Amino acid sequence: MANILDGKKIAAEVREEVKREVQELKERGVTPGLAVILVGDDPASQVYVRNKHRACEEVGIYSEVHRLAASTTQEELLKLIDQLNRDPRIHGILVQLPLPDHIDEKKVIDSIALDKDVDGFSPSNVGNLVIGDKCFYPCTPHGCMVLLDRAGIDPKGKKAVVVGRSNIVGKPMAMMLLARHATVTICHSRTSDLAAECRQADILVAAVGKPELITGDMVKEGAVVIDVGINRLPDGRLVGDVHFESVSKKASWITPVPGGVGPMTIAMLLKNTVEAARRAC
Ligand code: NDP
Repeated sequence: MANILDGKKIAAEVREEVKREVQELKERGVTPGLAVILVGDDPASQVYVRNKHRACEEVGIYSEVHRLAASTTQEELLKLIDQLNRDPRIHGILVQLPLPDHIDEKKVIDSIALDKDVDGFSPSNVGNLVIGDKCFYPCTPHGCMVLLDRAGIDPKGKKAVVVGRSNIVGKPMAMMLLARHATVTICHSRTSDLAAECRQADILVAAVGKPELITGDMVKEGAVVIDVGINRLPDGRLVGDVHFESVSKKASWITPVPGGVGPMTIAMLLKNTVEAARRAC
């Protein structure tokens, strides 16, 4: 039976560390600040933004939420970002996605100052990640790496398979594993034999958005399995992209859903914000 990679516990440890780092910065006269922008009234986004704001308050990060109407124009949004880029109280800027259709998401993300892009989604930040320069690690894959590190799992020399190639999870995850000297395969919806690819993995990361797609027969004995997926089933249950029951019988380590990668994402946002404040000192 697999060991549990306890994201809830590790995220709580990270938050405590962040709290101490915030305190140290405050003693040097700097209060880390995060601005979160929410456009429109998507209910899930509202919950995410509320949670981020609350998490900031808990660790002593100054946080301001800009709630804008769904009818906000792109120009107005870019103007706000420009103000925040120049605001010395703000070290991190986060635009909650998705944005309404009339706004060019790419243009908006690209307008965030590179040294305040704590989500790490801007093309320049991603470019720096790829070439191994100083950057902010996107929060969800960063959280996955911290889970591996805290369990003493070194990706070096291991075969890692990432299922999913989104810009926010799959691709940066693959780059981070590569930077840590894993041999990385990225799978996606057109991969011809997903099961065969997955069975090669010493470290398997599922970031697909398909409930329980990865089953026990697709996993090598002793593999480390990280489940990024969050899927709500019609009966109300929350499950990952991994079929926990069958996979946990073969894996050596596995993240549960909920309580695995999920709690790490906000913890890493706090960490990136403190890092941004530190760099600005
Ligand atoms: P996207 O929908 O952007 O990407 C999904 C990826 O999975 C795509 O690359 C897609 O391939 C691939 N895919 C889809 N179907 C299959 C299949 N049958 N076989 C192999 N690959 C497939 O999702 P995200 O990356 O944004 O999110 C993935 C999951 O992670 C979701 O459940 C999301 O809710 C969750 N998530 C969790 C977070 C957390 O904090 N824990 C944060 C962010 C996301 P293709 O490119 O070919 O279409």
